[in-house]
Amino acid sequence: MKAGTTPLDLMNARMEAAHIRPDLQESLRQCVAIHTSPAPGLLIGAFMADFALELLGADPAKQKIFSVCETPKCAPDALQVIARSTTGNGRLKIIPIGKFAITVNAAADGPTAEAVRVFIDMKKLRNFPVIESWYANSPSYDKKTMDESLQQQIFRAGRDILSYEWVRVNIFGRSKWKPVTCSVCGEPVPDYLAEGDRCGACGSMKYCEKI
Ligand SMILES: [Zn+2]
Repeated sequence: MKAGTTPLDLMNARMEAAHIRPDLQESLRQCVAIHTSPAPGLLIGAFMADFALELLGADPAKQKIFSVCETPKCAPDALQVIARSTTGNGRLKIIPIGKFAITVNAAADGPTAEAVRVFIDMKKLRNFPVIESWYANSPSYDKKTMDESLQQQIFRAGRDILSYEWVRVNIFGRSKWKPVTCSVCGEPVPDYLAEGDRCGACGSMKYCEKI
């Protein structure tokens, strides 16, 4: 790294060298800012989200986009930034299946919607051995020496490691609820989240103790 050259400078140069669209470059930078690092899965997730929106012909600035992410790692942040499907706005569901795949649809009336599922295609990955070795968590992948070529390959590959299929998804909407007061701590929770007469924190989801 030359003096004064930041990881972001390097990333920008690599994106330029790979002829990535300027608007997608900006999206990638926003993803990195939120994620706080240019993690490989985040960058691939950004290409996935961008591809899915184009296939849907959907614009997240003008319509609500619903997403499912099949991994909790990295890719959800790309969906939050690019598709504006967030856990907070209720339009991002993370299902920890452990596949690098996303399913995206535009808001629809009715109980189901047509969606596009974008995933890493193992056959296509063969053309990009560094990404393949990283993705397989292979012992041959050496983070110290291969991170640079991994990022270069990810930018060069873009969508070339992805495939897609059209699927039907159930719409996940807001459920109706009533408050239930926990018999232990006295705090209210929605009835569909209560565990009998207790809240989750006084039940199976206890995560802290008072000090
Ligand atoms: Zn409680």
